[in-house]
Amino acid sequence: MPTRTTAIPAWTPAFVAEVVAATIEQAAVHGLHQAPRDVARSHHLSPATVEEWVSRARAVQAAPVPPGLLACHTCARSMILIQLPGSGRFYLCAPSCGRTPVPAEEIRDAVAAVILHRTPHLVPPGKTTQAASYALGPIQRVTVGATGTDLHITWRAISLQVTGPMMVMAQRLHLAQRHAADNKPERAIDVLHSGLLHVDPTSGRLALDTATARAAMLLATLTLTSGDPAAALPWAQWGHRGLRHLLRDPTNPEVRAALRVLAATHRAAGNLTAAADCYSDLIRHHTQADGPYALPTLATQATLAVVLYQHGHQEPAQQLLARTIADHRRVHPHHPAIARMTAALYRMHTTATGPPGHPPHIATSATPGAS
Ligand SMILES: [Zn+2]
Repeated sequence: MPTRTTAIPAWTPAFVAEVVAATIEQAAVHGLHQAPRDVARSHHLSPATVEEWVSRARAVQAAPVPPGLLACHTCARSMILIQLPGSGRFYLCAPSCGRTPVPAEEIRDAVAAVILHRTPHLVPPGKTTQAASYALGPIQRVTVGATGTDLHITWRAISLQVTGPMMVMAQRLHLAQRHAADNKPERAIDVLHSGLLHVDPTSGRLALDTATARAAMLLATLTLTSGDPAAALPWAQWGHRGLRHLLRDPTNPEVRAALRVLAATHRAAGNLTAAADCYSDLIRHHTQADGPYALPTLATQATLAVVLYQHGHQEPAQQLLARTIADHRRVHPHHPAIARMTAALYRMHTTATGPPGHPPHIATSATPGAS
């Protein structure tokens, strides 16, 4: 046994659980880069040790059961994987409520057994030894009682097929991007959904890493493009909030692209006030980053004008669009967007006095990077 086990305080499973919980709590405020350093200092540990404990607790690849699946029967907190030198792997709630840690292999075998008994069709042929890793497909939550076999299982109303349960988020994102580029959005959506099954985007908790926030954003974009803005909205909100928090700069191009997707999703869902607010923020960030007459700034102004018009604010919409066209003509005189904007303004004027009909339309795309 290395001498570091004699360090004070002792590295008990309860201590590790407390440190991991504190780090994840801190990460929601300062990000997962800074949090281990802060927590290490206050617990007299090295940042590398804290990072190792946290990444083990969150790791997907070697986890006996998927992270986020287990809850403690006593305190209802999430349980995490703890592995200390020479003492095997345990699950314990974080922070620990004082209960006894449960051997991880016991839980894995029990979960695998119920899955193979009840939903064997969700485990691909040849993967039965990894059955427990498919748990998030059919199971919502496993509440762990006193022992590893005293489990209360909450099944999902509708079982989901999990794709590549051992894939880490960065790989998953890469694979989904490839499927999307190959024009297979359904496969991309499946891959992303599988990786985000343990995330509740409405819970108020932030994404702890950029790969997860990016995965949520791509899922939102593809879901919006597939014509389901209501399903896309929670992911767009959660992904944008996570990226803004993790990248720390609202003018970062990726954060602006995420805000653009969020705005488009609100608009498609019919939340015109929220959409107008997002577009107004986006104009401010574009202006800060690229200047008031840059193409993204002017394009967003034109989109905001159309949204305002759809929302019944006809005069400010017409004024904003007329001003945008004038600026566009002056700064980018031969740009094709001018013709589209002018046509939209013309439709605003001709439909403003008539009965409510089709709103003027400026082609916009929800794909990050375009305009
Ligand atoms: Zn507990």
